[in-house]
Amino acid sequence: MTAIVDTRTPNPKNFFPGQDHDWELVIGLEVHAQVTSEAKLFSGASTGFGAEQNSHVSLVDAAMPGMLPVINEECVKQAVRTGLGLNAMINNRSAFDRKNYFYPDLPQGYQISQLYHPIVGEGTITIQVGPDKDGKFESVDVGIERLHLEQDAGKSMHDQHPTMSYVDLNRSGVALMEIVSKPDIRSIDEAKAYVTKLRSIVRYLGTCDGNMDQGSMRADVNVSVRKPGSDFGTRCEIKNVNSIRFMGQAIDYEARRQIDIMEAGGSIEQETRLFDPVKGETRSMRSKEEAHDYRYFPDPDLLPLEFDDAFVEELKADLPELPDEKRARFMADGLSEYDASILVSDKAIADYFEQVASGRDAKMAANWTINDLLGALNKDGKSIEDSPVTAAQLGGIIDLIKADTISGKIAKDVFEIVWNEGGDPAKIVEDRGMAQVTDTGAIEAAVDEIIAANPDKVEQAREKPNMIGWFVGQVMKATRGKANPKAVNELLRVKIGG
Ligand code: ADP
Ligand code: MG
Repeated sequence: MTAIVDTRTPNPKNFFPGQDHDWELVIGLEVHAQVTSEAKLFSGASTGFGAEQNSHVSLVDAAMPGMLPVINEECVKQAVRTGLGLNAMINNRSAFDRKNYFYPDLPQGYQISQLYHPIVGEGTITIQVGPDKDGKFESVDVGIERLHLEQDAGKSMHDQHPTMSYVDLNRSGVALMEIVSKPDIRSIDEAKAYVTKLRSIVRYLGTCDGNMDQGSMRADVNVSVRKPGSDFGTRCEIKNVNSIRFMGQAIDYEARRQIDIMEAGGSIEQETRLFDPVKGETRSMRSKEEAHDYRYFPDPDLLPLEFDDAFVEELKADLPELPDEKRARFMADGLSEYDASILVSDKAIADYFEQVASGRDAKMAANWTINDLLGALNKDGKSIEDSPVTAAQLGGIIDLIKADTISGKIAKDVFEIVWNEGGDPAKIVEDRGMAQVTDTGAIEAAVDEIIAANPDKVEQAREKPNMIGWFVGQVMKATRGKANPKAVNELLRVKIGG
């Protein structure tokens, strides 16, 4: 274990209120991310999710005597890719150790992990915390301590038989990356932003699907509290938190609990705790004294893992554009930090937006993607993958606005029609007569009619020019929203004068 250094200056914005003074949270996360690969870390068995129990188990995974592990090169590549995505040191030589413990879902009696020589060393994740009320984000660097490869265990199932428990070994031997942060996180928002960013990075890289609800990503959450600016306090570790929302609740509860103890003159015992999402509480699982002695030792069945620089360079050359680079590019194209941050947060959203923006005004494409499309998806609880409106259709709507065929307001109606019924926006506008009236004769007739019917309002508008807005509204109503608003405005100004 390396000495931990405090890299942060206390920021009152992050403080947690106590009875007599403010407290500062210190959080470090150990995230387990399941490697995206066809086969397990040391066997050829499938990693497919949701298969029938014990259908993806090789003799190695079941720990039959005499079976030997063989490292899966794809998992090694995935770990290196992830390390590169975290701007981390890649260790050309690493090694596997046995972590010994007994548990029914662990047939080997040990887990193969990397304690002493991890495949990836120190790195950094830059998180964007916010937006605040002005739409601004704060960038915070969170240090990565290490990333190592290890095996997942099987799963015990206790509720299926009155007197017996079952074991499902489908997960046994699946490759995990454990990504350990430095204790650089100072608030619940930062912790959430960190996991969100890490998940986004691995999804961009395709190294982990990031699905927390399926257990592909879960976090051990280390929390301590201290007086702002003082030394690190004693931490408690909350095991296996499997949603970002639960993590927020767990930290909040745990910080309160620790602050209450300290303010009552007590001290924190280092322990491992569990979060109960139903009660919203953490409770003790074991104290430091009860901690396991895992008797780690180098696995004699496996040679050290070695590769050369060329192996790493090749993977590096193939990396996709990551969220930070993409955000910078979007901002260079004229998007606000806020818009760019939302669009890059999910690769599928970024891809959709890029298709909409291709050959079009970026700002307009961003507005429609964020406000209209994401807004509607959110409302219906749909993800971008099952959006009823394709990028090509949304692009078509924008083209109609740009060509002055429809106003922005009518465009919202067209969007709704496409959302509900599908179809080509241009054809919808034509078939349903939704095109904007640019024929000045027709608009003029409507303007004249409104002016003639409201002489008193015309008088008022001469005194108060912003009364024109009322007339615009009337004309739009009379033309069922199809008059070109610019033409209406111009005509009214000329005719009313003032
Ligand atoms: P261990 O291997 O015993 O779990 P580590 O030092 O490797 O201990 O730390 C595990 C995690 O705990 C890391 O994410 C680290 O950032 C975090 N951590 C360490 N000290 C503290 C602290 N005082 N408060 C909160 N988190 C901490
Ligand atoms: Mg730990």
